[in-house]
Amino acid sequence: MRKPFVAGNWKMNKTSAEARELVEKMIAQLQDAAAVETVFCPPFMAVATVREALKHTAFGLGAQNMHWEEQGAFTGEVAPKMVKEFCEYVILGHSERRAYFGETNETVNKKLQAAQKNNLISIVCVGETLAEYESGRTREVVSTQTSLGLRDVAPEYARSIIVAYEPVWAIGTGKASTGPAANAVIKDFIRPAIAELYGAETAQAVRVLYGGSVTAANAQEFFTQPDIDGALVGGASLKVDEFVSIVKSF
Ligand code: PEP
Repeated sequence: MRKPFVAGNWKMNKTSAEARELVEKMIAQLQDAAAVETVFCPPFMAVATVREALKHTAFGLGAQNMHWEEQGAFTGEVAPKMVKEFCEYVILGHSERRAYFGETNETVNKKLQAAQKNNLISIVCVGETLAEYESGRTREVVSTQTSLGLRDVAPEYARSIIVAYEPVWAIGTGKASTGPAANAVIKDFIRPAIAELYGAETAQAVRVLYGGSVTAANAQEFFTQPDIDGALVGGASLKVDEFVSIVKSF
């Protein structure tokens, strides 16, 4: 049984003080939602404050990115063990990092290796752009991102990876995919690519999320699909009632 999982990606929003206020309001309303693994991913500057607010709770904390090197002359970057000091999870390969900051399948994989070494659970994002979608390249893009991004880790670590299928055309656009369409990409392209790397059993064990304009109004459409295990939520994770209602949609 794959435990339902919902993560809120706050992107570059909220100061540390604002983040504390937001997370406190959310967790107050989520005390009865233990069946869903719920993770908050604030910006780096707010991570320590949110950690404080989550102390003695079952909620998880994730970083939105990290570097793969252990330390050194990489101005502005954050090392895996710095992330591990506060977080249990890390988002890797978000489409905004791929589009604006030169993230590639190769760098995603280097970061995955570093996450494994530092006992961080990786949330690896894959998904096609609008142009790729319109030219019928979804299978090729998503399969390649999965195969190259997820390769060369230990089988036990592979089972712990969380994959987020996020069609780029659906992120922040208000134009979500549909439950059946997202389920088909996960079932027909993502799980088979994982099976090729680590076998069919692992491919069934790995949790795969949908992300892209998930809201309280459409969450159930995705959560009732057999191959969708939860959501990576952007915009709606900044609104208390929306996010609480998404988590409670399971
Ligand atoms: C995201 O940031 O990963 C995301 C899916 O954003 P949104 O929910 O706003 O589309």
